[in-house]
Amino acid sequence: MREELLKELESRYDAIRAENEREEAARRDRIRREFPEIEALAEEREGIVFGTIRKILDGKSDAADLTRQMASLNSRIEEALVRSGLPSDYLSPIYRCPVCRDTGYTGDPVKEPCECMKRAYQQLVREKTGLDKKEAETFEAYDESLIPDEPVKGIGITQRQLSRIAREQCEKWADAYPDVQQRDILLTGGSGLGKTFLMHAMAARLIERGQYVLIASAYTFLQIARKSYFDGTNGIQELLDVPVLMLDDLGSEPLMQNITVEQLFYLINERQSKNLSTVISTNLTLQELRERYTERIVSRLNSPKNCLILTLAGRDLRKLER
Ligand SMILES: [Zn+2]
Repeated sequence: MREELLKELESRYDAIRAENEREEAARRDRIRREFPEIEALAEEREGIVFGTIRKILDGKSDAADLTRQMASLNSRIEEALVRSGLPSDYLSPIYRCPVCRDTGYTGDPVKEPCECMKRAYQQLVREKTGLDKKEAETFEAYDESLIPDEPVKGIGITQRQLSRIAREQCEKWADAYPDVQQRDILLTGGSGLGKTFLMHAMAARLIERGQYVLIASAYTFLQIARKSYFDGTNGIQELLDVPVLMLDDLGSEPLMQNITVEQLFYLINERQSKNLSTVISTNLTLQELRERYTERIVSRLNSPKNCLILTLAGRDLRKLER
């Protein structure tokens, strides 16, 4: 888990606990004002806790005694609540997660994140990557029946088979990461063939597995890079450091002299030197990438040892008659 996200989560849990306490206090107030009989029992319960602890310390009582008295009072309080038309747990401690009582952690003395915290963490990463709005783009939701089973010219297999290969490779990679043979992935092929879907499906799987991913369109990357370049700001740092960066739709961004190519080279070079994974999708062929970004950049990607190159081909899925 990433330190800064964990901090954010912990402060969310703090807020939840504070909210729980406010609600508990409000309920107790209401009892005090409106239900004197229950209030008397609640006060008795509090008295027992303190009184018995003193007795235990003085050796005049034991913990079993406290438990017995508490159980008896608890059931009297619950009965009184129900008689008054309130839920039986109205005066019980409030929490959303009974396992960690909204602390986010379980285990003593070694603390471990609670399952609810792990889920919240995944959700937070999904929010950060924008994936929370793309619920359906997962390997589970991948429906190959939507892909034409027609031969692709010059390849010898059908569009569906080609797509299946890409999907299998992507899923295998996402399941194995960080223990992958090729650190990077280049997804190429015309528009509407499902590259972005596969990218999002990989991100979703990685997040499920507790990995940290960022997705940025090439256009967004360029905006961040430009801002860093001109203002000397450090916005690009996160893209340089994130364990898995997914750069979507390379080639769709405007080509600016001295900036686009330089910044892209810088990004790829920095990430490769730190051995961090980059997944790139593009509508351009390797030859077109070369023309647009120079051989210097393409040679960084066109290396079978380090980069898994997956090519999709066929008809634009968005333009098919259904
Ligand atoms: Zn929990």
